[in-house]
Amino acid sequence: MDEPCFFCQKLRTLAQLPEDEVVWEFPHSVALLGPWQYFAGYCILVSRRHATELFQLSAQERQAYVEEMNLLARAIAGCFTPRKMNYELLGNQVAHLHWHLFPRRDDDPDKLKPVWLALDSAEHDAAEKTRLQTAALPRAEIAARLRAFLQNHLPR
Ligand SMILES: [Zn+2]
Repeated sequence: MDEPCFFCQKLRTLAQLPEDEVVWEFPHSVALLGPWQYFAGYCILVSRRHATELFQLSAQERQAYVEEMNLLARAIAGCFTPRKMNYELLGNQVAHLHWHLFPRRDDDPDKLKPVWLALDSAEHDAAEKTRLQTAALPRAEIAARLRAFLQNHLPR
C-alpha cells in the first residue's frame, strides 16, 4: 500500500485512543464509538484485516465479521431501542471495511432519509454539526452501556 490507510493506522494505535472511543475488541473487528452521537450508540465496526470488499475476506473471516456486526447491532438496539437500525458498508472515503451502525431515532425529523444527507449539511453548518455530535448521555456512559450489554450477551 502506498498511502497509509486511516483505519489501519487507527488499529495500530488503539491503546492511545480515548477510553470512550474503543467500545469493544472482537476477534475480527473493533467497535469504535462514532462522532455522531445524536444517534446514541452509533458505532463504526472496523475489520481488523485491511480489505476493501467483503468478498476479499475468506468465507470464515466474512462470517465472523458479519456475526460481530450483528452482535454489535443487537447491543446498540438493546441499549437504545431505536425505531430502526441502519447498517451501512460504504468505504467511499476510507476504503477499509467498516460498518456504520446507526440507530435511528423516532423523533429524528429526517428519520425516513439516510443519515448522510444531514451529516453532509453538518460539514458546512457548525450548529448542525454540534447538534448531530451531541448525545443525550455522555459518550463514556454510552460506551459503558454497550460494553455491559456485550459482556452479558456474547456467545461463550
Ligand atoms: Zn486499512
